[in-house]
Amino acid sequence: MILIKNIDTYTPEHIGKKDILTTFDKIAYISEKVDLPSSNFPETEIIDGSKLKAIPGIIDLHVHITGGGGEGGFTSRAPELMLTQLTTNGVTTCIGLLGTDGITRSMGNLIAKARSLELEGLNTYVWTGSYKVPTRTITDSVRGDIILVDKIIGVGEIAISDHRSSQPSDQDLIHLATEARLGGMLSGKCGILHVHVGDGKNGINPLFYIRKNSEIPFSNILPTHINRNSLVFKQAIEYAMDGGFVDITTSIRPEGNDEVHPVDAFQELLKHNISPYQITMSSDSGGSSPIFDKNGNLTKFGVGSPSSNIEILQSCIKAEIPMELALIPFTSSPAKLLKLNGKGNLIEGASSDIILLDENLKIHSVICKGKLMVHNYKPIVFGAFENNN
Ligand code: ZN
Repeated sequence: MILIKNIDTYTPEHIGKKDILTTFDKIAYISEKVDLPSSNFPETEIIDGSKLKAIPGIIDLHVHITGGGGEGGFTSRAPELMLTQLTTNGVTTCIGLLGTDGITRSMGNLIAKARSLELEGLNTYVWTGSYKVPTRTITDSVRGDIILVDKIIGVGEIAISDHRSSQPSDQDLIHLATEARLGGMLSGKCGILHVHVGDGKNGINPLFYIRKNSEIPFSNILPTHINRNSLVFKQAIEYAMDGGFVDITTSIRPEGNDEVHPVDAFQELLKHNISPYQITMSSDSGGSSPIFDKNGNLTKFGVGSPSSNIEILQSCIKAEIPMELALIPFTSSPAKLLKLNGKGNLIEGASSDIILLDENLKIHSVICKGKLMVHNYKPIVFGAFENNN
């Protein structure tokens, strides 16, 4: 058990100074004052929260946990992410996925990695498939994967408008969204088609087509990388004003290729009266961030880091977005859209996934499933092959 005393608490809603008691993997009490009986009570770690803030753990819905990339040949395959790369950056729940490479990376590989992170203390789920359509699955269909494999909540990232995509037709996408929706309905999961939007000239047009020509609700489709250029972003505003859900990539920053800064993207969407519950943010970490020139030649290469989420949250606060609003796309919004019950909010009975921030909004401690993973700015739980010297 962990008792955090006298901490300024955001559920994301700001509820002021509270005591928070966690038992096993749940938040047991949040109230003005929680006192423990003096004798015969199980050992409890007590944290003085008087100079700290408590916020829900970050839900990162787009993480290449097995490592992504490879667009620059075999040496450019990014390495697997390790536990503390996620926990020290406040990620307590991640949804793993493949990407461009569905050949040397497999669904078996992805699920094994998600299970290993789960056993090491994180909450994990995965998207089935990769960029390609027809996409790679474990059973004979996307629907079967979502219904039969616990960790799989939807299909993605399916690439559109990208020279690396398999150029799926609008009908292919409708078929995939239908598969995801039915799989979700029959298993009580979100059943989302998670769409990678590339730099191609069509942008998110295929999603407008799905909207017009099928009965698939908005809540079954989530485009990501919408801040990758101003054209896609403009379309994303239109799509969201219509009622659609959109995901901002926190590792995309202006680098001279017309990218929209994640904080600007968030503010712009809000200015258009789009609900923060239609907006999520994710890191795209572990994936390569290749830059191609006009002829499709690779010019630059990097790897997205899970630190981009907390950095953008800090930048949101610097830009004077209230904390309770800035937290939503990282916590309660993805929890709601992805149907991750008990996640994304600091309330009694919820999963005990809590970040403690200091006055400078640096991560002081991270609790995941009731276990202290990071304390006093240092990781204290390590993955199996991490160097913890
Ligand atoms: Zn992508």
